[in-house]
Amino acid sequence: MTTMVTGEQVKDAMTKAGITFAAVRQCSICERPLFFERRGEDVFFDSNCECVRAISQVQPRTWEEAAAIINQRAEGPSKTALAKEFGLTI
Ligand SMILES: [Zn+2]
Repeated sequence: MTTMVTGEQVKDAMTKAGITFAAVRQCSICERPLFFERRGEDVFFDSNCECVRAISQVQPRTWEEAAAIINQRAEGPSKTALAKEFGLTI
């Protein structure tokens, strides 16, 4: 069975859990965690890392895009852990 979440669920989970940052992956070069950041009703993707220190790489995203990150992950412990970053239990 495939677990699917919606953008609204991700937003609600982060808000209820009081989570600001959810690490979704690491930079493939410097291995710094890259985050989705909740700012009130909005969400951003922060891809700043040691490799691009001089450039601001905080970009607006939609909650649907945040949900898609989770939905695209193969079923298993890795997906469960990723969902937990957002405050979701799946
Ligand atoms: Zn990097």
